[in-house]
Amino acid sequence: MSFMKKIGVMGSTGSIGTQTLEIVRANPDMQVVALAAGSNVDLMEKQVREFKPSLCVMWKEEAAKELKMRLCDMQITVLSGMEGLLEMAVLPEMEYLVTAIVGMIGLRPTIAAIKAGKKIALANKETLVTAGHIIMPLAAECGVPILPVDSEHSAIYQSMNGENTKQIKKILLTASGGPFRGKKREELLNITVEDALKHPNWAMGQKITIDSATLVNKGLEVIEAKWLFGMEPENIQVIIHPQSIIHSMVEYVDGAVIAQLGTPDMKLPIQYALTYPDRRPLEGKKLDFYELASMTFEKPDTETFRGLSMAFEALKAGGSMPTVYNAANEKAVSLFLNRKIKFLEIYDLIQGAMENHKVIANPVVEEILAAEAEAYEYIDRIRRS
Ligand code: NDP
Repeated sequence: MSFMKKIGVMGSTGSIGTQTLEIVRANPDMQVVALAAGSNVDLMEKQVREFKPSLCVMWKEEAAKELKMRLCDMQITVLSGMEGLLEMAVLPEMEYLVTAIVGMIGLRPTIAAIKAGKKIALANKETLVTAGHIIMPLAAECGVPILPVDSEHSAIYQSMNGENTKQIKKILLTASGGPFRGKKREELLNITVEDALKHPNWAMGQKITIDSATLVNKGLEVIEAKWLFGMEPENIQVIIHPQSIIHSMVEYVDGAVIAQLGTPDMKLPIQYALTYPDRRPLEGKKLDFYELASMTFEKPDTETFRGLSMAFEALKAGGSMPTVYNAANEKAVSLFLNRKIKFLEIYDLIQGAMENHKVIANPVVEEILAAEAEAYEYIDRIRRS
């Protein structure tokens, strides 16, 4: 039996993906066996040459062809598309799958990987947002852990260690508040893409950075927390904490609050997911409480930042509604990034798509994908009219 941790990374060229590879580099007992990305052939080629996986997937077929040509001196299988991702998900030698793709595309491969008994280090939040009711029972049935990579959920996970989870009163989910914290609606009318991409504390991919500015990211995290920790929405409280030092907390029935603190560095939750329940040394800046001037807390302004209130509405409606919330947001953010709509229109499009949707309770994967398509079509239609 090998003591190597054999890891596959879906979304290896992105922010979470490259940081996962840094963790692998620093841990000699970790080995990359499969990598997947969208279209970034240059970086994928470098990653393959360094980590020598046996399988590699590019979403785009042309990218896969190009990569295959460039890697003709190496022994590696290069696949493309959903078929490729599904094959990677069940790769026999893989023990952990890090799901770090953006968007709902990660859903089917994650389900396939759980069925094949792979441990899931879950960064792709859309998976639980849209299909938490499928993923969590399936993981339990297959005896597979879902290890959260999102820093807030990792913090909650860490704050639950050794506790009786039945004695949890509520989850306190912290949020930095993003670059526009404190601003009112009028001040957000003419926000540019560049303004929205300036996150005060975290360096992340573009989509999630916009989601942090709208608070949709926090909304997605609330939904994710409901599924990961089996919490009712009324027991999940969002707290603005601009310094991002407390990564989230858990309050117990006796009033005790347990929190996880640290510098904002995604490498900690990534490594923790891959070494759980162990902890290992990690390079990088550590908290210095003498230097730490203060930590502050605020109530979120859900009237201005409707992304959060709409997430609670989506949760209340349940079934396929969180999928519509997520899909409408994905589409709206991409329109905003392409400078086709204004910042606040992101909210209007999400709200419109949710109002337009008739909830399906307990949707199966096909119905989730149909709800996604419906949200996209709705936005296309109202933008044409
Ligand atoms: P990035 O945009 O930085 O990276 C996305 C990755 O996914 C890239 O490797 C990209 O490849 C790949 N990809 C995109 N589409 C496909 C596809 N169809 N098939 C295969 N690969 C694809 O995103 P992040 O790393 O920021 O985020 C990834 C996920 O993690 C998201 O769900 C996000 O919400 C979540 N997350 C991120 C955090 C962060 O700090 N960044 C924190 C917590 C959660 P290519 O480069 O070729 O396009």
